[in-house]
Parts: sequence; C-alpha cells; structure tokens
Amino acid sequence: MGAIVLATGYDVFDPSVIPEYGYGRIDNVVTALEFERLLSASGPTAGHLDRPSELALRAEIADLEKGLHRANRQLGKLEEKHAKKTSEFMDEFKTGKSGDDADFERWASLAEKAAALKEELAPLKKKEVAAHTAKKLAFIQCVGSRDFRFNRFCSSYCCMHSVKEAMIAHEHDNETTSSIFCMDLRAVGRGFEEYKLRGGKSANIEYVRGRVAEITEDDSHNPIVWYESTTARRVEHETFDMVVLATACVPSVSTPKLAELMGLELDENGFFKTDPLAPLDTSRPGIFVCGCAQGPMDIPESVAQASSAAARAAEVVSMAGEVAVGGS
Ligand SMILES: Cc1cc2nc3c(=O)[nH]c(=O)nc-3n(C[C@H](O)[C@H](O)[C@H](O)COP(=O)(O)OP(=O)(O)OC[C@H]3O[C@@H](n4cnc5c(N)ncnc54)[C@H](O)[C@@H]3O)c2cc1C
Repeated sequence: MGAIVLATGYDVFDPSVIPEYGYGRIDNVVTALEFERLLSASGPTAGHLDRPSELALRAEIADLEKGLHRANRQLGKLEEKHAKKTSEFMDEFKTGKSGDDADFERWASLAEKAAALKEELAPLKKKEVAAHTAKKLAFIQCVGSRDFRFNRFCSSYCCMHSVKEAMIAHEHDNETTSSIFCMDLRAVGRGFEEYKLRGGKSANIEYVRGRVAEITEDDSHNPIVWYESTTARRVEHETFDMVVLATACVPSVSTPKLAELMGLELDENGFFKTDPLAPLDTSRPGIFVCGCAQGPMDIPESVAQASSAAARAAEVVSMAGEVAVGGS
C-alpha cells in the first residue's frame, strides 16, 4: 500500500472583482505579490520602489523615442540622397516648389510623423522629470478575506507579510512611511506582536483601524484612500504614492478537479477537507494534505505540516511493508 501527500498550495484572490479598489484601473494600486517583486533585488526595478505609473510612462517614452529614431534615420538618408535638409525640403514642398520625385510624398509624411512624435514626447519628458519613487505607502488588509461577499475566512499570513513589506521598504529607503489599514492586526505567532510594534517604532508604520471603502486617483496618478476611521469615528481620506492590496489566500483553481480525481471531499471554503482530530488526514485513508492546500497558513506552519505529512505517509508505507513481510 502506498501513500500520497498533497502539497498543491493556493492561489491569490483576484482583486479586480472589487471595482471600488481600482485594481487594474489605477496604475499605482498593486497586489502584495506584485509589491514583493518590486521590492526584490532581482525584480524588474532592482528593488527600487518605482511606481507602475512611472514605469508605464518610461515605457511609453521609450516607444516614442524608438519611433522617432527610426523616422530620423530614414529622414537622414533622404537628406543625403537629395543633398537637402528636411526643413528646407518641407518649405519647398508646402509651397509646391519642390518639383516631382518619387521620394517626396514619403519624405513629407516622415517629416510630419517625426514632428508629431516630438510634440507627443515633450510633455511626457516633463512628467518624467517630476517622477519619483514611492515613499508614502498604504497597505489594505483583508482584500477578499473576512468579507462575506467573497471569503469569510481569515487568510492568516497577510497581516504579517504587510508589516514585513513595510519594514523592507523602509530598510530600502528610510524616508518611506506606511499606513496599514486593518480591522485588527492579527499578529498571532511567537515574536509576531513584538515585530509589529518594532515596525511602528522604527519603520514609520502607522496602524489605522478602519475598513477602506474606496480608492480613487488624482491627476498625478496618486491613489487616494477613502476609509472609515473607527477611532475618530469619521470618514477620512488620504493621498498615497502607492497602495498595496493584501489579497486573500484562496483554493488553487485546480483543487476541485484534483479532489474529483482522487475522490476527496472539500471543506466549506473549497480547501481539502481534513479530520479535526488528525489535521493532515483527508477524507480518504492514505492521502494526506499539508500547507495552504489545506487552508491559509504561513511558511513555518506549512513546513511543519509538510514534515508531519511525510511522517504520516512513511507510517502508512512502513506498516504496509510490515504486513507484507509478516505475510510472506
Ligand atoms: C505576497 C505574499 C507574501 C508572503 N510572505 C510570507 C512571508 O514573508 N512569510 C511567510 O511565512 N509566509 C508568507 N506568505 C505565505 C506563503 O506564501 C505560504 O505560507 C506558502 O507559500 C505555503 O506553502 P505551500 O507549499 O503550502 O504552497 P505553495 O507555496 O503555493 O506551493 C505549492 C506548489 O505546488 C505546485 N503545484 C500546484 N498544483 C500542482 C500539481 N497538480 N502538481 C504538481 N505541483 C503542483 C505549485 O506550482 C507550487 O509550486 C506570503 C504570501 C503572499 C501571497
């Protein structure tokens, strides 16, 4: 008899189904996973907190400059061939003095294209000069978790990963400030509460007790967070450089199919169902589950569960071996 351990993990909740948070519409609203990539030294910005709006601006400028470079190269060839500057040619072309040549229509249209590209580039370059990295961050907790519209359960690890991300951002640039908007911050684990407090004291993190209702955007692509401050008992708003959404941990999309294939039951949240008295045992003997395939949990808990699941599987296999030996 063999044993199987399922360690198929989780998916992150897609926040675009909460239109009031503007994910996908407001450039500088990102998920925590995307934020981790930005913070990463091997990520797309080498760890600098360049805002997505500025990355998009730079990409647009690079595109236009490429087009302009191409047009200028072709114009240069025509100037050389006809021994004339484009400006000179255009003056003659507009007044009909240029005469007839197969190149002239193309030359004029290329000159117009280059002029239009230059005109388009000028305001974008000005904006690029004013661009800055993100220094004022907002973290929004429970995006898709503890929300009856989506998932009732707590995703358990997001409070701590938001504190961690705010701490790393501050380590990278000590002018960074972070506001973590939460119903309550669940720092459950050894040393977690102390870590949270350290963030408040030494990493410019403010914990705001309030559920965010909406995120809008100003003309400079700065997200504006509208929330109910439960301590002040007022609806407040504040402008940030970037907003990070702590999205829920949800069952991976392949979980129902895998459960069907293996004849396993799922729990009310769609994760693999386990026995409360034997938390790694699925509804079928010999099949075990560990980590987020069973429900949201952090890395240390997933690793501890993985060791336990491996031990449970070894137990089944070795017992089968003993039976086989005993029977021979
Ligand atoms: C933004 C973010 C930051 C986080 N930061 C922290 C942190 O700082 N500290 C911490 O403790 N936790 C953190 N977590 C939580 C952490 O990601 C999870 O606790 C951990 O990944 C769970 O591990 P797992 O092995 O159960 O699942 P996963 O890490 O999801 O691994 C499952 C693996 O199984 C593979 N798989 C899926 N289906 C199949 C299949 N059918 N066949 C073969 N392979 C398959 C997947 O591709 C994946 O590689 C963070 C989570 C997020 C979203």
